[in-house]
Amino acid sequence: MNAMMSLQGTPVSPGIVVGHAHLVARGMPDVPHYCVTPEHRLNEEERLKAALKESHDQLKEIYQNVNKQQTNPELFYILDAHRLILEDTMLRDGALGYVRKGYNAEWAVVRHLSNITAVFQKMDDSYLREKRSDIEQVGKRLLNNLLGHSEESVAGFPDPVILVAEEFTPSDTLQMKHESVLGFVAQRGGRTSHTAILAKSLGIPAVVGVDQATVKINQGDRLIVDGISGLLYINPDPETLKQLTEKKQRYSTFRQRLLDATIQPAITKDGQQILLKANIEQYSDAFRAKRLGAEGIGLYRTEHLYMNRSILPDEEELVRTFSQVIKSMKDLPVTIRTMDVGGEKQTKLFFKSHSNNGINPAMGMQGIRFCLREEQQVFLTQLRALLRIAAQGDVRILLPMISGVEELEEVLQLFAQAKDDLKKDGLEFNSNVPIGVMVEVPAAAICAEQLAAKVDFLSVGTNDLIQFTLAVDRLDESVAYLYESGHPAVLRLISMTLNGGSAKGIPVSVCGEMAGDPRFAALFLGMGIDELSMSPGCLPLVRRTTRSLDFKQLKEMAKAAINRDTTKEVIGLLEQTLRTACDDEYIFH
Ligand code: PEP
Ligand code: MG
Repeated sequence: MNAMMSLQGTPVSPGIVVGHAHLVARGMPDVPHYCVTPEHRLNEEERLKAALKESHDQLKEIYQNVNKQQTNPELFYILDAHRLILEDTMLRDGALGYVRKGYNAEWAVVRHLSNITAVFQKMDDSYLREKRSDIEQVGKRLLNNLLGHSEESVAGFPDPVILVAEEFTPSDTLQMKHESVLGFVAQRGGRTSHTAILAKSLGIPAVVGVDQATVKINQGDRLIVDGISGLLYINPDPETLKQLTEKKQRYSTFRQRLLDATIQPAITKDGQQILLKANIEQYSDAFRAKRLGAEGIGLYRTEHLYMNRSILPDEEELVRTFSQVIKSMKDLPVTIRTMDVGGEKQTKLFFKSHSNNGINPAMGMQGIRFCLREEQQVFLTQLRALLRIAAQGDVRILLPMISGVEELEEVLQLFAQAKDDLKKDGLEFNSNVPIGVMVEVPAAAICAEQLAAKVDFLSVGTNDLIQFTLAVDRLDESVAYLYESGHPAVLRLISMTLNGGSAKGIPVSVCGEMAGDPRFAALFLGMGIDELSMSPGCLPLVRRTTRSLDFKQLKEMAKAAINRDTTKEVIGLLEQTLRTACDDEYIFH
């Protein structure tokens, strides 16, 4: 047997598995390059058009054959995006253009693909990098059809395997028999890759971005995938196998203990309760949130409703979609945020008027500014749908990126207009739906009391609050080391927000990523925050740590933390408190 080797990747779905590798060939096929004489070009065009149609039909068939109930809807969106790429003139006309110049069809596709992907390659945005990979995957399907190759099926294996590929396509993931997959290893991709989305939703351990995985791993090699540390072991020696088997055992005991606690309230040992809600992006997330014990949805991001669409959703579609979320949460409260587009989210949109990213996108035409200035009609449609849906359940509306009272007043005026219009149209709506402001711009934290005077609740968005307070772009890897969640300035702004809220007697919650980190969750509890909203997967751990803590002690800790000089000191204090109270090995993972 070959000597053991270990490779580091990005862990995207936690857990540890041991199994044998099954390599999935997914490289760009080799294609012939030749020139086509003018009299044969029409024929070549027809060949390309037929392959486009065949590719389109294949995607349609995959869509029709998958079990819609059991599949993550996000994968359907990706499949739909692939279909749109095939329909889009960008791919079709570009490749046909090369055929008309005399390139054979395969060469024309490869040539045009390299033009498109070169543009995406330059973009420093993980979402856009995924878009590039979507285009490449569609290109491979098209080439395989031109060449008459069939795609290797990953539908099922006699024994469960660890799948290894350059990357996995949405059609792989939709056709896969999940029982036969123990884990995933992908050479490419990051936290937002399709492999990551799939693995997380299935709860299968996965490591992505493993350099040279498909070269260093051979078919049938024994592998250990550590989805906690991101390490991948190829042909592990007996000692490593023993250590990792023990780690796997400890991790599953830990997970089981967390899951056993999902029905218990998040209440400290001395009786202080905090509401734990979930952040969701689409309605299917609501089921998971409910399963993991969410006491409501604290942040429903609605941007995805405007992604990969050739036409924007109308009022009826919005009402239908919101109603699905409300129904799946039964009678629990659902806070829906109006579309927060622009900044790092603008490229996900279909708005033609918003093709310009701005000089500094994070500080440009985004969030509520975009709704007020660029797409007021689209915004009004969303407000009408929200007011209508609020008549059907416990709905609250949250406004993103508010930076001052005047901006808020402008939005409130639009609410009044939407209500008038709905009244005229004779449609049922809730005139008293609670409206809240996201505190994610430092100005909003500083003016929290003035904002609190005009709304029903405040919700701190720490992801952006950190970015704007510390002047650190949340997407810029080169300054990621400065993106410090526990920075004393951030804590003081959150404390100001709390003071503003309590001066006006309204609740303050936190819905940024910090809320899902047990250390900060404990701090927020000590500061007097009313509720936390987090990714569903973080709920069990935050719940468990809360139940082993003491509120009196947390209040003392919070007072001390806010007055510390450095992030390191803050984190040190929080970790020390948590370590003393909980004995879980994986508490900080
Ligand atoms: C935030 O900024 O903290 C937040 C919750 O919003 P988003 O991550 O969607 O910008
Ligand atoms: Mg934000």
